[in-house]
Amino acid sequence: MRRILQAVGLVIIVVAAVVIYRTENLPSQQVPVVPIDPIDIDELVVAGHLSELIQFKTLSRQVKQDGDELPFLAVHEWLAVTYPKTFATLKHQPIGDLTLLFKWQGSDPDARPILWTGHMDVVPVEAGTEELWTHPPFSGKIADGHIWGRGAVDMKSTVIAMMEAIEHLAGSGYQPKRTLYLALTHDEEVGGLNGAAAVTAHLKQADVQMAWSLDEGGLIGVGGLINGIDEPVGLIAVGEKGWITLKITAKSGGGHSSVPIAGDLAIVNLSKALVRLDESQFPAKLNGAPREMMLSLAPALPYYQRVALANLWLFEPLVVAMLESSPVSAAMLRTTIAPTMVEGSPKENILPQRASAFVNFRVHPNDTMESVLAHVERAVADPKIEVSQSTQSFARDASPMASKESAGYKLIAKTIGDIYGSILVSPGMTVGGTDSKHYQAIADETYRFAPMTLPPSDARGFHGTNERVRVANMDDMVRFYIQLMKNADEDR
Ligand SMILES: [Zn+2]
Repeated sequence: MRRILQAVGLVIIVVAAVVIYRTENLPSQQVPVVPIDPIDIDELVVAGHLSELIQFKTLSRQVKQDGDELPFLAVHEWLAVTYPKTFATLKHQPIGDLTLLFKWQGSDPDARPILWTGHMDVVPVEAGTEELWTHPPFSGKIADGHIWGRGAVDMKSTVIAMMEAIEHLAGSGYQPKRTLYLALTHDEEVGGLNGAAAVTAHLKQADVQMAWSLDEGGLIGVGGLINGIDEPVGLIAVGEKGWITLKITAKSGGGHSSVPIAGDLAIVNLSKALVRLDESQFPAKLNGAPREMMLSLAPALPYYQRVALANLWLFEPLVVAMLESSPVSAAMLRTTIAPTMVEGSPKENILPQRASAFVNFRVHPNDTMESVLAHVERAVADPKIEVSQSTQSFARDASPMASKESAGYKLIAKTIGDIYGSILVSPGMTVGGTDSKHYQAIADETYRFAPMTLPPSDARGFHGTNERVRVANMDDMVRFYIQLMKNADEDR
């Protein structure tokens, strides 16, 4: 008995020693800082340009209205006037009428081209919420250290930063070695089929393949935006989840609502199927980019979380359970199930012969569109219920995930360090969609990172009320792209 106790005691001591050793030796993800030459940018000039761009109502509505294209055409003119050196130096052409594609020819034929991309369109302001805005949503008001308005975060500030950077470089006589493409699209918020998809088709036809592309998605979270970490965290998203919407339909005999037939009510049968589906969530797994992210962030997390993450061999189920408890982190671990629309009869006294629900799935890299469909059919488990793919949107699997060892990732991380100092940098995965779902066909790697510092108080306005971005952040956003171009030219 004593021997057994001794053996158990020894095992506990060894396990504890391993746990502590691994916790103390978590590799740091701080980027090393090398001083760079100062880049003179006036944040107020940049803020002024962003304010002007916000005032163009470049809306992407679900259902297009006459005249919706006019603000985009006005933006094209405004860009040419505001950034004359860019328009004089770079080739530029409209794609699908409202998207703009720029090309800055590099001098080195061996250096592979890169693509920067942004969208000019914004989502509408929800009817009835205009009055809730501190400053009107299309005023572009500069007040309280912020530029206010729809698009400030998503993503006119980034579009402005890229344009200012190119204008600065072109104005100072910079000659790129690497060819730079810049795509400014007009329909990202409604799927990108006429913008990013058309740019992709155009470049594919010209046989252009990018070393990498850079889009929105990641950013620099401050004040606890990312996993409650107070210090700044640069999150470079290396891929995005996929998308499929399934239409689930229950049929019945229908008839007059004065004589309902138990068991033959389409809405009731549909509801039961939806409940079964809701109770059949996809399994949560901590692998791929989200696992890399948690490991990268670990050194900045409280001690107990650090212990758990440094010792996933022992605590993985606990960590998964903890991450599952928040909807934001749960979405990183599994395919999500979101019923979004339902259809029944057109009148309150008619029993519908068909009742349908649309369920939107954001496909995790662990799944495919086919495996999602199979999962749903299994969960619904009713031959009288039809499951089909909705044809209204661009369904796709999750994108490939770039490695954090890739040249592009390292280059973006280095540039973050050059401009923002030695901050924590981590890979991540966007749970929403971006234009890069199209660009992945013409780029070896697609990254998603905008050099915007965003506290939780400003993040709330994204697609909501009081969207705003800090004036003090605008100069560094421009510096980031200038430095990125220089670094990309160095790194060949
Ligand atoms: Zn966006």
